[in-house]
Amino acid sequence: MAEKLKVALHWLASCGGCEVAVVDVDEKILDVVALMDILFWPVALDGKYSDIKAMEDNFLDIAIINGGVRTTEQEEHAKLFRDKAKVVVSFGSCACTGGVPGLANCTTKEAILQTAYHDTVSTSNEAGTRPQPKWDDEVTGETMTLPTLYEEVKPLDQVIDVDYYLPGCPPSEARILDLVGVAANFAETGELPPKGAIIAAEKSVCDECEREKGEKNITEIKRPHSFDADREQCLLEQGIICLGPATRGGCGAPCMDANMPCRGCQGKPEQVDDQGLKMLSALASIMGVENEEERSFEEVEEMIDQVVDPLGTFYRFNLPVAIINKTQAKTEVK
Ligand code: SF4
Repeated sequence: MAEKLKVALHWLASCGGCEVAVVDVDEKILDVVALMDILFWPVALDGKYSDIKAMEDNFLDIAIINGGVRTTEQEEHAKLFRDKAKVVVSFGSCACTGGVPGLANCTTKEAILQTAYHDTVSTSNEAGTRPQPKWDDEVTGETMTLPTLYEEVKPLDQVIDVDYYLPGCPPSEARILDLVGVAANFAETGELPPKGAIIAAEKSVCDECEREKGEKNITEIKRPHSFDADREQCLLEQGIICLGPATRGGCGAPCMDANMPCRGCQGKPEQVDDQGLKMLSALASIMGVENEEERSFEEVEEMIDQVVDPLGTFYRFNLPVAIINKTQAKTEVK
């Protein structure tokens, strides 16, 4: 048998769901253990960053990193693992496109700190304390530094060079096992897929959704909790915003099986430039198609207003890579 791969798993700005997804492969985790020596995995094993720092460059075969980069410490860790690993995998929506934490890019670091340390109903902070970037430890006398927040959340590949991407919030079991297959082949033959490969399908979620698809012409936008949606018919045709047409497949469409719409966690399909814009255009093309010319501006506006939380709906997982985000950043720089 080929030598075991030396692997590290790490998390940056993420919720921990990606870590749970790895454990969720059930007994197949035994195949993983047979193939890899996991040398670092903070969620499951005791380990120190000093152990990683002590390794020679490229000592690790694979570093699997989930989460985006929000703090100085996360950037430092991302760069450390890049130096120490031959292959870096961007694992999960947050690492690939910023994910839900990336929605914070629509506000400022100052507004975030103000809310967290002063404004929430449960905050009791009469002294107005904020995290200090440096302080002298009372016991050791050492000067300690705290990680500081960046103004924006960045996907991993905006900070380091990434070899492969495995999107999803969290990635599906089938695609995680695909990654294990890639690793097994690497261990056996030394061969890897082309750099930049995305471990998912090329086509959209609609292509793998088994619901019946017909004429699309909606006159009302509905939210999933507000009625009992038909389990056979396309959810978009029933007025529920389903991001299937604008989302990369490969997940197996489990949300639609549960009678819930696609939220877009796998990011954009190959041929799409901007996931949110693609969905907006898909929606615009099916909303109020009948008697379109006779509708007043107010009527059209009323329909558009039915979209609750447009940013969270169309850019829930991908704001840091969206055109709108770049446009905002440029506007701020001017
Ligand atoms: Fe399925 Fe949603 Fe696509 Fe309709 S829009 S076919 S429900 S994935």
